[in-house]
Parts: sequence; structure tokens; C-alpha cells
Amino acid sequence: MTNSIEITFLGTSSAQPTPDRNTSSLALTIDGTSWLFDVGEATQHQILKVSNIKWGKIDRIFITHLHGDHVFGLPPLLCTATKNLTTTSSDTARHPIEIYGPSGLRKFLRQTLKLTRSFLGRDYMVHELLFPEDPVDHPDKKELYDFEQLGKNIQLQRSGENLYWEVIDGKSYKITAAPIKHSIPCLGYVFSENPLPGKIDIQVIKPILLRNKEALGIKNPMELVKKLQNGETLHLPDGTIIEPPPRRPGRKIVLLGDTYDPSGIIHLAMNADVLVHEATNALTSSDPPGTSYESVEEGAIRRGHSTARMAGKFAAQINAHKLILTHFSSRYRGCGSKIIEEIRMSAVETFGNDRVICAEDRLPNLFTQNIRKKSTQISTPFDAPPSVMYSPAFPTARPAEGDRSPTAGRTVNVSGNATIGYRRLWSILNANKIRQEVRRGRYYEKPTIRRKRIRREISEARFKEAIKKKVNTVLQMKARLVNGQ
Ligand SMILES: [Zn+2]
Repeated sequence: MTNSIEITFLGTSSAQPTPDRNTSSLALTIDGTSWLFDVGEATQHQILKVSNIKWGKIDRIFITHLHGDHVFGLPPLLCTATKNLTTTSSDTARHPIEIYGPSGLRKFLRQTLKLTRSFLGRDYMVHELLFPEDPVDHPDKKELYDFEQLGKNIQLQRSGENLYWEVIDGKSYKITAAPIKHSIPCLGYVFSENPLPGKIDIQVIKPILLRNKEALGIKNPMELVKKLQNGETLHLPDGTIIEPPPRRPGRKIVLLGDTYDPSGIIHLAMNADVLVHEATNALTSSDPPGTSYESVEEGAIRRGHSTARMAGKFAAQINAHKLILTHFSSRYRGCGSKIIEEIRMSAVETFGNDRVICAEDRLPNLFTQNIRKKSTQISTPFDAPPSVMYSPAFPTARPAEGDRSPTAGRTVNVSGNATIGYRRLWSILNANKIRQEVRRGRYYEKPTIRRKRIRREISEARFKEAIKKKVNTVLQMKARLVNGQ
């Protein structure tokens, strides 16, 4: 199971950089390993300015399409990312950096690196996601660049009406992609985590296991919690049956390339926790008086792009939980400015809720493990039907003779939220703080300092809670004394 997922935007401008925004790139950091999605020019400079992406930890790079503002940063980034890994370093023995993208990416990289005689400290390979009409690149060994290993040619697959590429099928997650419409072949990626073990309320289960300790004949009956978490049903000697908690759906993050119509990815993107969608244009107060929304949308579509309203509409269509807008036209200056808020509000209008954020460059830790789903899920042929996922069975069992404990012989539902662990509390506070800061359009506090501050706030909160508990106990004791018990 993956613990922390962070999205860091490294470039949020379209076509050309502005003083505040670089060209397209973002990093998805999963348990410390970073994957880049698009690498606009000077992405490497952006990485130098953030603390949560380490050169040696960039393992995979995904490209949505071959427009320059999405790939011009790739060759130099590869050189920098691998430069300190000398031939004697154990890092070079590692798996090559894997790069995924549309047809032509392999040639672009091979030619650029060859012509510039670039030296890499680690091998790379490009897996091309091919449309049926794309040529298949079959180079012989001599044609490959010195540091290149031949990647896979991944063919587009069809399931009914739906088209998709199966990109990675990992142990705890899966990456798929589907074509979306832009002025050139373009695709969107979907990261989906496998279902997570359900939550177990230890306070419910502990007394049940402890009272069966002797009959079970094991030293520590709490070991059985692990079995429960793995989905096993426990049949205890006193007749109690403990059903495992229902598995929780994993997190889903949808990262789209440039598009004026992403409907081709709907079948993979349903119920996304986070949708990253371009919003190149919007009708704002900076437009000449009398400009109609229709004319703005028509212009955006003509150039292969979307307006913020279109992004909001799509987010609603796939029942997304959170929408992040990016790829803003260089006309819209500033971060957290009035114009950017206008863009956000136009997406809020069509999305139908306020969970819309306009991305900013280098805003780290935007989303961590607290990415959670809405309770309402719309079922799609690609998801397990919700009714199966959410309905635990409650068969009853006969209590053992003479056992009077209230749960004996019952089937016990152990899923619950009774205690909030330190990590969970931390992530909630952290996310709320960041959200507030983003809303106000300002940010900056070094991540290390922020972490310390939030930790302090948590310990204060816990201290207050402990005092409250003590006071309550004393009051109860007092009441009992008064009642003469
Ligand atoms: Zn483009």
C-alpha cells in the first residue's frame, strides 16, 4: 500500500513561460519516488527549487503529447537527473529511467541526445503508446543511442466502445491512459491505487479477542487483527464471528494533457479523487467589453484547448472530487490574482462545487494521503460495483453455552473511525492549512518549518484533549461519591 502521494506542479503556463509560471510539468511523488508528467523547458530549474523531488528518485516520466512546451525540457533533465550517478555508483546498476509517451518520442530523444553527444549517468528506455496508424519503431541495436535500451511498443486496446492503453500494472497501483482530443495526438493518464484494507476499530475488537485468548491458545490474540485486515473472517471459540471490514476504494488521480474534448478517457476517469485539467482560456474581466463566453470557448477549441468552464463541466461529468486547473494562457498574469480567481470561479460554476484549485508552480505537498473520495460513487464497467464494495454481510452465529458478553455469538462490524492516529491528524491539519493558504492566494513557509509548526499545534491539541479527559474522570468519580456508589 502506498502511504503518501504528493502532487507538485513544476510548470502551469501554456505555450510560453511567464515570470510566475513555467511551461508544463508536474511531479507525482509516491512514497518518495517521483514520476514526472510532461517536461517543459527548464523543468530542471524548477526541481532545483523544491525540496521533495530528488534527482536519483525520478524513476518514470510520462509525456502527454509532443508539443514543445511539454517536452523541450526532457533531454537536459535526463542529463542532470543522471549526471551525479558515476559508473561506479550502485545507482547505475538500477533499472533504467522509463519514459512513456506517444509515437515519435523515442526518435526525438535519441536524435537530440546523439546530436548533442550528451552523456547520461544511467540508461533510459522509451515505451511508446501507439495509435493503430502509428509506425512501429524497430531500430536495430546499432541505431540505439549509447544509453538507450529498447522500450516496449504498447498498442491501443479496445473494450467495447472504449479505447485505452494499459501502461503499468503494479503491485499496489495501476497506470492506464486513453486518447483525448487536441490539435495533435494526445493522451491523458490515470493513476489508480488498488483497493485498500478496511478500517478496523481496535476498541471494538480488543475485548472480544482478549476474552477468547485462553480458548484460542495463543499468546497474543491481537495478531489476528492482521488476518482480519487481509480479508479473512475470524470464527472465535465463543461463537463470535468477526467479519473483515469492507475494503476501501484506492485513490485515483487523473492527469490530462492538452485537450478540447477529453471524453475518450471518461471510462477510466470516473470517480477520480483528483482531476488535473487544462484551462488555457476563460472569460475574465481582462477581456474587451462585450466579449461573449461563446467566442472565448470557440477560440480555445479552435486551438485545441479548453476553457475553465469546460474543465468544470468535465469534472462534474466524471464525478471528480477535486479539480485542479493548470496550463493557463500567458495572458493571465500572477498567482492568486483577481483574474485567476475569476478563472477558478468559472470552473466552480460548471463543476457545481468549490473544490477547485488553480495550480501554482512549486506548491509542494498539495495532496497527501488525505485524498479521499466522496461517499457517492457512480459505478462504471471498469470499477467493481459499489454494492459489492460497501455491503458487508452480517450472518449470525450461536453464542457459546454460558457466555453472557453482549457481543458473544454475534457477528461484529469492526470497521470504524473511533481513533484518529497521529499521521491522519497531521495530514488533515496539513491539508487544511495549505488549502487556506491557497485560497488566500499566498503561500510560503518552508515545508520543514511548516511541518514543525503543525506538529506543535497537534501536540497542543492533544494536551488539551488529555486534560479534558482527566477532568471528566474526576467529575464522574465525584458524581459516584455523591450518589454513594
Ligand atoms: Zn499542446
